[in-house]
Amino acid sequence: MTNQSTPVQENYEFKTEVHQLLDLVINSLYSHKDIFMRELISNASDAIDHIRYQSLTQPDMAENDTHWKIKIIPDEKANTLTISDNGIGMTHDEIIQNLGTIAKSGTREFLNTIKENKGDVNMIGRFGVGFYSSFMVADKVEVVTRTSKGKAHKWSADGPGGFHLEETEKTGRGTDIILHLKKESHDYLQEYEIRGVVKKYSDFIEFPIVMDVEREAPPQKPEDKAGETPEPEKKIVEETLNSRKALWAKAKNQIKPEEYIEFYRHIAHDFNDPLETIHYQAEGTIEFKALLYIPKQAPFDLFMRDADKGIHLYINRVFIMNDAKTLLPNYLRFVKGVVDASDLPLNVSREILQQDANLEKIRKNLVKKILGTLQTMRVQEYDKYLTFYKAFGQVLKEGLHFDPGNKDAIAELLLFESTKAEKENNRSLDAYLQDMPETQKSIYYILAEDRHAALASPHLEVFKSKNIEVLIMTETIDEWIVQSLVEYKQKPLKSVGKGELDLDESEKQKLEEENREKKVEYHDLVELMKTKLASEIKEVRFSQRLTDSPACLVLDEMGMSKHMQELFKAAGQEMPPQKNILEINAKHALIEKMNSLFRADKDSPELSDYIDLLYDQTLLTAGYKIKDPAGFSRRVTKLMVKEGH
Ligand code: ADP
Repeated sequence: MTNQSTPVQENYEFKTEVHQLLDLVINSLYSHKDIFMRELISNASDAIDHIRYQSLTQPDMAENDTHWKIKIIPDEKANTLTISDNGIGMTHDEIIQNLGTIAKSGTREFLNTIKENKGDVNMIGRFGVGFYSSFMVADKVEVVTRTSKGKAHKWSADGPGGFHLEETEKTGRGTDIILHLKKESHDYLQEYEIRGVVKKYSDFIEFPIVMDVEREAPPQKPEDKAGETPEPEKKIVEETLNSRKALWAKAKNQIKPEEYIEFYRHIAHDFNDPLETIHYQAEGTIEFKALLYIPKQAPFDLFMRDADKGIHLYINRVFIMNDAKTLLPNYLRFVKGVVDASDLPLNVSREILQQDANLEKIRKNLVKKILGTLQTMRVQEYDKYLTFYKAFGQVLKEGLHFDPGNKDAIAELLLFESTKAEKENNRSLDAYLQDMPETQKSIYYILAEDRHAALASPHLEVFKSKNIEVLIMTETIDEWIVQSLVEYKQKPLKSVGKGELDLDESEKQKLEEENREKKVEYHDLVELMKTKLASEIKEVRFSQRLTDSPACLVLDEMGMSKHMQELFKAAGQEMPPQKNILEINAKHALIEKMNSLFRADKDSPELSDYIDLLYDQTLLTAGYKIKDPAGFSRRVTKLMVKEGH
């Protein structure tokens, strides 16, 4: 129980990762100290955004304190710098959650990034742990905070050991972050230093960032004090340090490149420059302004379910939410930025707003604009596009499945490795179509673990011999996309390892003729193989795709690849056992030899071994496990001994 006169102090240890993070911040990070200010101001601004939004529907939450502002208070005597806001504040439990006892996924990621020398402290905000950067300049930090109608609490910590929490008094709602500055950081008490840092990082923050400054009062009128030079009077005035211009609302030609960059860094929590900036105004059925950015690098949480996604939604410059998921489909989650719309209802809950029909119109417009920008980039700035594609190509591909309406536009943006592409990842489907002979009916692809495995696959033999290009798909998601992308510009996409090949007619006839004789000749052998392998395979047939190998496994048209089967299994789905087709190469010496063994004695144990070995071999090349490895080695050994004689 809390006692009014002697407040109870609660002591907490920091979560291990937070402890390590603080150790690092305190002892090893010396560069970019300025950024603590950016992080704290950014938190203050978020906190004000939240209460302002809440007060739209519950005006009493604001407690009549709606002069939103962030105040910076340097105190030279106490050696403290305070960043104070009248934002939403934190409750007792929120303080514990947010400041130290729960490690966010970003904490460990940030530690690793620094340890592996992949970045510096400038990136801290991106990992959602910006608050701790205050320990770069302070040896003790206090957080005094109060929510609307709640009790005030003070959090304090002077190192990685832990923090204290106690009830306290605080007049207004909001949060004061009090930094007890380290000796070498006393510069941050100077007006010019504070001004510089605020201007550099936080100029566009929408709320006034104010500071009390001492100014000389205007001189008295000369006639009042004739003959005397009046002592200039000093007085304290509260001055706003930031220009507060909503960048997206300004005309493009009024914005300097560095302003675009700094705003991006703020909104994306990224220390890099953006790869692309898209600033436009939509007019017509729906009016809005958008300032969007495509980052250069994927954030660490791109594939995490609870990642911060979506863009910031404003309605007439009032911040509404920062994770407006409805505004962009999930496959464009890498896009950062702001949308400011005027035709949306301000006074409704997020949930209702998310269902607004106008949001859907905005979404359509944004998607079109983003895909269009990417397309232009691909055509006009290919190297830049490659940087984009490397970072976000996988995510973009999800759109083929989830956004059927834009399937063609997304497919146009795809790049694949191919048997003909010298560099990796550089064939678009259009380039493939452009180079393919008129007689070719399909776009061929192979799904494989990597390029090496693809090139070694027997399925490629006929394509190599006929010089037909095959796209090499090596990403897990490719399995899914080929199910959605069954054709591109009227050409079907076909797996080289599935079903019958649709080579051109004359070719097909020639092969069939050649195989016809063999079919008769090898008929009984094939029947024997079918019977012997009946529990494993669906069919034995003559191949059109093999030139060098004696046999290979093929999926039938509806078959599911090995990888896909594994994915389903991993997801706990019961898979019916799937039988593949065994294709044999009628021209291969091994098949001929097996046929002579068959003629000599169809029950010969040697022939039986050959059939097993042939099948096991096809399993191995296709990346499957063989059922009886011991039996396999026994047979191989037997054969080797025999051949050695
Ligand atoms: P991030 O802001 O990226 O989530 P931080 O480590 O900077 O990460 O802050 C952690 C959390 O602490 C914030 O998400 C917020 O909930 C809370 N917080 C920090 N500063 C304030 C503040 N000035 N007012 C209210 N809550 C705050």
